[in-house]
Amino acid sequence: MTSDPAPPTTTRFALPRLHELDAPADWQSIEFLSDLHLSAEAPRTFDAWASHLRATDADAVFILGDLFEVWVGDDARHDSFEARCLDVLADCASRRHVAFMAGNRDFLVGAAALREAGVAGLADPTVLTVFDRRWLLTHGDALCIADAEYQRFRAQVRGQAWQDDFLARPLAERRRLARQMRDASHDRQRALPASAWADVDAAMAAHWLREAKAHAMIHGHTHRPGRVELAPGLERHVLSDWDFDAGTTRGDVLRLDASGLRRIAPRATVAR
Ligand code: MN
Repeated sequence: MTSDPAPPTTTRFALPRLHELDAPADWQSIEFLSDLHLSAEAPRTFDAWASHLRATDADAVFILGDLFEVWVGDDARHDSFEARCLDVLADCASRRHVAFMAGNRDFLVGAAALREAGVAGLADPTVLTVFDRRWLLTHGDALCIADAEYQRFRAQVRGQAWQDDFLARPLAERRRLARQMRDASHDRQRALPASAWADVDAAMAAHWLREAKAHAMIHGHTHRPGRVELAPGLERHVLSDWDFDAGTTRGDVLRLDASGLRRIAPRATVAR
């Protein structure tokens, strides 16, 4: 991790083009989750997630990125694991609104996969207006600016040229490249204590909230679930990552209704 020598400026903190979503008046509860990192190698995490999506009674489920450990292109959506995941999404979306925002692992989820699952795409960042308040929704990686190397990587892979080149490669090669990128990312993480991993920049987060005229941000990515007060009246709520496979039952859901936000355990979690 390297630090950026440039002083904080409004440009550096600039809020990306903001998308707006007004919740329908009949929504009474909305759930947020992220960082499931679903993969065929983590079957209990998949089961916990699938059980929750089958059992939830929320009017809407917002998935704020890194639902998948990796997504190498929508042409893999009929492969067995990807198809099972899309089936769970489609089943849930047949009964309630399901929205998906891309994370840094699954930014290649495309229109074809979403359309087939009946899931709405959600731009990062989006302001959701509901229960008379404005909530800023983001995956969170764009705010971790202390990791300049990651931000350069992010700018590259979120660009059209890189994506066109990547998606033109054969599927087997994409899977191999994705594994390499994931291993490199894990190696970089392991080289530092968890406390030193880049976190959301507080000044930038506060700037985004003020620009968006929102009082609270809901994000994932950092795997540091909790609530952080940025300034009086400005806060961020961090979603939990999920892991039910490492002898743990890590993972929860933020549920918003007219009385506020609360953190709940996944419903009907599979017995261990
Ligand atoms: Mn992430």
